[in-house]
Amino acid sequence: MQLILLGPPGAGKGTQAARIGAEFKIPPISTGDMFREAIKKQTPLGEQVERYMKAGELVPDELVLGIVRERLAAPDTAQGFLLDGFPRTVPQAVALDQHLTEKGQALTAVINIEVDPEILVARLSGRRICQDCGEVYHVVTKREQKPGVCDRCQGPLIQREDDYEATVRNRLAVYARQTAPLIAYYRETGLLMTVDGAQSIDDVYQAIVTGIRQRVG
Ligand code: ADP
Ligand code: AMP
Repeated sequence: MQLILLGPPGAGKGTQAARIGAEFKIPPISTGDMFREAIKKQTPLGEQVERYMKAGELVPDELVLGIVRERLAAPDTAQGFLLDGFPRTVPQAVALDQHLTEKGQALTAVINIEVDPEILVARLSGRRICQDCGEVYHVVTKREQKPGVCDRCQGPLIQREDDYEATVRNRLAVYARQTAPLIAYYRETGLLMTVDGAQSIDDVYQAIVTGIRQRVG
């Protein structure tokens, strides 16, 4: 099963990805997580992408496509995968289509999580992530048990630099300009499935699982 989670920053893609991946036994793949890891480890890729991420701009397509191709070559993707945060531009979507055709795979569904912009700003400014494992929290809607400490791995919770308000506004504008056109792109293919992301985390999850099951029969 080859799935894409589409939606603006803060829609809940990362929150849903781990559970959906576990449900369908496919690895969740987040390009944003891969870039944050590269920055943390100070790799050459990390150095190249850091300034784009800090500014809330997209990383150039060729850098993104390089890491995605490498990741999709790993054996754990043989039965499928769940992409979170990729593709984000039409050229990335075209490149993904070509790559999958070459591998004899096809997309199963594209899940578009829809949320109003005002809600997104509140979600992103309250988001906290675990510095060690990337688990996602929110100061109001998804609190950790022990303040500042990850429930899963005990790592420290931090605010992402690109979640400060000025950067958030730019990321939402970048989404509208560069990523939103993918909704029409995938609607054309008949693969698009839209989910109301303003519901509770559990209800969004149920809506996604139900939608996928209906599609695969
Ligand atoms: P994305 O990966 O799409 O950028 P996240 O999954 O990181 O979004 O979610 C953004 C923030 O919103 C996080 O703080 C998360 O805890 C919170 N959140 C996610 N889904 C919901 C929801 N359905 N209701 C309320 N808060 C949510
Ligand atoms: P995310 O964790 O998905 O919110 O991504 C964080 C940041 O990583 C984005 O604002 C971009 O700078 C960069 N990024 C992640 N995925 C992509 C992508 N597919 N294309 C371009 N930039 C990306």
